[in-house]
Amino acid sequence: MHTISLQQAFEKTEKMQQSFVRWKSLPLTERITGVKKIRQNLLDNLEHYAKAITEDMHKPIAQSKAEVKKCAYLCDYYIDNAQHYLQPRTIETGWSKSYITFEPLGVLLGVMPWNYPFWQVFRFVIPNLILGNTFVLKHASNVPLSAKLLQEAVNVACDDYPVYLNLFLPGKEVSEVIAHSVVKAVSLTGSEAAGRSVAETAGKYLKKCVLELGGSNALIVLNDADLDKTIDKAVQARMQNAGQSCIAAKRILVHRSIYDEFLKRYIDRVKQLKTGDKWDETTEIGAMAREDLAIELDNQIQKSVAMGAKVCIGGHRKDAFFEPTVLTDVTADMPVFTEETFGPVAVLMPFDTDDEAVKLSNQSSFGLGVSLFTADVQKAENMAKRFDEGSVYINEMTISDPAVPFGGVKNSGYGRELSQFAMYEFANIKPVVVK
Ligand code: NAP
Repeated sequence: MHTISLQQAFEKTEKMQQSFVRWKSLPLTERITGVKKIRQNLLDNLEHYAKAITEDMHKPIAQSKAEVKKCAYLCDYYIDNAQHYLQPRTIETGWSKSYITFEPLGVLLGVMPWNYPFWQVFRFVIPNLILGNTFVLKHASNVPLSAKLLQEAVNVACDDYPVYLNLFLPGKEVSEVIAHSVVKAVSLTGSEAAGRSVAETAGKYLKKCVLELGGSNALIVLNDADLDKTIDKAVQARMQNAGQSCIAAKRILVHRSIYDEFLKRYIDRVKQLKTGDKWDETTEIGAMAREDLAIELDNQIQKSVAMGAKVCIGGHRKDAFFEPTVLTDVTADMPVFTEETFGPVAVLMPFDTDDEAVKLSNQSSFGLGVSLFTADVQKAENMAKRFDEGSVYINEMTISDPAVPFGGVKNSGYGRELSQFAMYEFANIKPVVVK
């Protein structure tokens, strides 16, 4: 990737400040019209954008198209709801008049990952663009084509000036941009290590940050779950995007009374997954995004096997392709349990009681989300508050939906994206009070 100098990065950042002054002064309806243009352009050029995703990080083409469509759906959500969310709100006080207004902060820095190269950027940018913020964006180094097209796709919003500029910089130079006086806040989606680094610099310069970091979600199957539906969901929840998803079900906990049957059927279902050519519309699992990531996954599995884990199916790597893999006999001290596994490897573990399931689920340094499968929804709702997680899904895999707040606790980060809450993370929530 051809990188730019820090001086060039600063010039782009200052340019976004000039854009900010103009963009924020537009009526809200005009900024929403900008997002309508972005949406239409996405749908008109769906194939073009999807091909870039597949080219960059090997996602099978059908899934790349689905990712672009999902971005258009996110635009729909904010087009329909932003006006309501950003409406000034009257508050009851002892003064004659008091109300809250929502104002943009200024230029935001986004630091984004490669696993859903369009979606991650869209879910950060669209609510903030409507609010009136502008952007400099450092995308992951291995998705340059997507990064280039994203800049074009977002700038469709405004004919007269850009509102979003790429900074093709190495990760280590990001701190200099955070320090720049024009940058008001930073949003990072990425690894725990990158999160710590960004938070440290943001803290030093008193800039707000939102961190969407890693996860090691549990998917819990209680003894009364409908196995037909649960197994399909549990395979999808782990194997989607070749396992390269922060919210994937990385630890599947199954009640011991149904464990053997579940395991057998899970393996059968994994065997049916269609692997192969990323350009084939029917391929379900492609290669991982980079060979070094597949090697890292292999190391985590090998270390766990040396500690007693058993490979039931898969376990082999060829270059960046990693076979869909199922591991059993896993204990809570093995790397595949304690660390995030960012590839197509499912860990299945039995449990005896609900208390044990909750304990195992919480026994992670991450806290992004948990899913529970059971016929007893009331019981699951009662259990929900016992999980140290950013979200709980019952009889559904943990997913990201524009209407539902998304984010973690513990080492999964802080702050929220999506829903109305995304509109306030980078807003100046400004009350006006009249005596
Ligand atoms: P990553 O290595 O942390 O990279 C993410 C972004 O941060 C890239 O743009 C990267 O740039 C940059 N970066 C790396 N080190 C940095 C540093 N010290 N300072 C500033 N920026 C830095 O993560 P990844 O491998 O792309 O993505 C996988 C991780 O992201 C997983 O842990 C996954 O769980 C997490 N993730 C979380 C969410 C969520 O919503 N919670 C969603 C998706 C992914 P370079 O590419 O140039 O290194």
